[in-house]
Amino acid sequence: KASNAFRDHLTFSKILVVCTISGGGLVAYSDVRPFNNVYADAAQATIKKKKVVVLGTGWAGTSFLKNLKDPSLDVQVVSPCNYFAFTPLLPSVTVGTVEARSVVEPIRNIVKKKDFDVRFKEAECFKIDTVNQKVHCKSIQNTNVDGNQEFTVDYDYLVIAMGARANTFNTPGVVENAHFLKEVEDALRIRRSIIDCFERASLPSVSEDEKKRILHFVVVGGGPTGVEFAAELHDFLLEDLVKLYPDLEKYTTITLLEAGDHILSMFDKRITDFAEEKFKRDGINVKTGSMVVKVSDKSISLKERSTGETKDLPYGMVVWSTGIGTRPVVMDFMKQIGQGNRRVMATDEWLRVEGVPNVYALGDCATINQRKVMEDISAIFSKADKNKSGKLNVGDFAEVINDIIERYPQVELHLKSKKLKNFVELLQSNQDDAAKKATQLDIEKFKKALSEVDTKMKSLPPTAQVAAQQGEYLAKCFNRMKECEENPEGPIRFRDSGRHHFKPFRYKHLGQFAPLGGEQTAAQLPGDWVSMGYGAQWLWYSVYASKLVSWRTRILVIGDWGRRFIFGRDSSKI
Ligand code: FAD
Repeated sequence: KASNAFRDHLTFSKILVVCTISGGGLVAYSDVRPFNNVYADAAQATIKKKKVVVLGTGWAGTSFLKNLKDPSLDVQVVSPCNYFAFTPLLPSVTVGTVEARSVVEPIRNIVKKKDFDVRFKEAECFKIDTVNQKVHCKSIQNTNVDGNQEFTVDYDYLVIAMGARANTFNTPGVVENAHFLKEVEDALRIRRSIIDCFERASLPSVSEDEKKRILHFVVVGGGPTGVEFAAELHDFLLEDLVKLYPDLEKYTTITLLEAGDHILSMFDKRITDFAEEKFKRDGINVKTGSMVVKVSDKSISLKERSTGETKDLPYGMVVWSTGIGTRPVVMDFMKQIGQGNRRVMATDEWLRVEGVPNVYALGDCATINQRKVMEDISAIFSKADKNKSGKLNVGDFAEVINDIIERYPQVELHLKSKKLKNFVELLQSNQDDAAKKATQLDIEKFKKALSEVDTKMKSLPPTAQVAAQQGEYLAKCFNRMKECEENPEGPIRFRDSGRHHFKPFRYKHLGQFAPLGGEQTAAQLPGDWVSMGYGAQWLWYSVYASKLVSWRTRILVIGDWGRRFIFGRDSSKI
């Protein structure tokens, strides 16, 4: 606040100096006085400020930061990346459809727009100490920095938004020989490596078999990232590289390996079929049902799930995209707080890390504990079982359902789509019919139905959409902390008296895209509306252009798309 005031006063002072020169020294006194007052106010405010530390500048951390507006907070951001990366466009960066700098926004550009204390430190957190409320960090600058590179930052509230790492499932040789596609640097390395393969294969001393091997590009993982990368690579080869390396076209192949039965299995079946057929037409070799068991420097060992046979696949470049795992620092923290037996850090529906109420976790590094949610639902249910007759009356039942819906938005989605769909809808739309049915509702049957829902309930997907919405939700809670302490707006507390301060986090699914190359995309939008082909590609262009974090990146990305359209992609190995 003081520095902002100082900056404003500098500008103000310049105007005053001009006035002073032309009109006399009248204003000098009034220029100094307010500054002193502001400084004193700011110093006093700083003493009372709650310290909020944010770890990570990805989707969750940046969305939290952008939406935070409470000037009574003292915010420190720690991240090894001094920029935010728009990850959905990383596959396009691997082949130069867009440039790396177009998809990143310096975090200091975001910080400078805040009109209260936000400081950024380029460092990584290596330990969280919940007893002393400190995070231990170390600088990532290895050279030319004197002194101790480690420091601690105190917090009153900690927001963990450190994302996840690529998951190798401990497959031997992956870390040493494969490329990941997680960070901007990964995308740039892949871009260089593709061109490198073509230049190596062009050398006169290289045999035919070796050319085939070098120009065999393998993508492991048939999820959205793997599929999009395979599609981008195919476009790059077809639209640009064949013109530059015409003799090598016949040696070039792309293989997409998937352990399951289909690629894009999280999408609607129509999209899966469309993608598989399109890739077949394009000559992309999709191999399903084969597990990679080892990656050596020149070949991949595959195990066929149906036959159990193992075979080797020679390759020139491999990209590994099989999902995400927990970062070591988060794993250590989980052990410290008694979550060592879990794969992903658990939070409640208010995004508070279980067992540590002033620590929040958002985005890919955490998940809302669904089992606990279901236990709580059963408890709500038992509470409603007041008459012990084995039947619920309609009033109790409506209360139970509403309570569940209010507390657990993700369960609402699930109830609506499963066995209880008709009944819940009936209850909401027509109380009379619902009453008739409700009197016949057997409590045990309902409990059984609920336990079936439990086993089928899904966690929120690790996507930018979820991370950004969680960041925004938490920032809005922080902004209204005082207001909601006085007038709580959440559901009634279970294990305590009174109400929760805030409503639980509610995820709103806005749809999902799977770009398939050749200016075609598959889109699955809310309400299971599916669109595939050229029209969906235009929708993809407009949605992603609108979602970019700043006008600067928006203009750069649109410029890149235009440049690619006119001049093609750049194949320089820089
Ligand atoms: P991240 O965005 O990964 O951010 C984590 C942050 O933590 C980073 O700033 C990192 O530097 C920082 N960090 C790491 N370690 C430390 C440490 N020790 N201390 C402090 N900070 C640390 N999702 C979609 O919804 N749609 C898409 O189209 C889509 N496409 C994708 C394409 C690719 C290639 C990839 C990789 C992901 C894609 N995703 C997409 C998923 C999406 O990017 C992630 O779900 C999202 O980034 C998760 O956000 P996050 O903030 O949890 O983590």
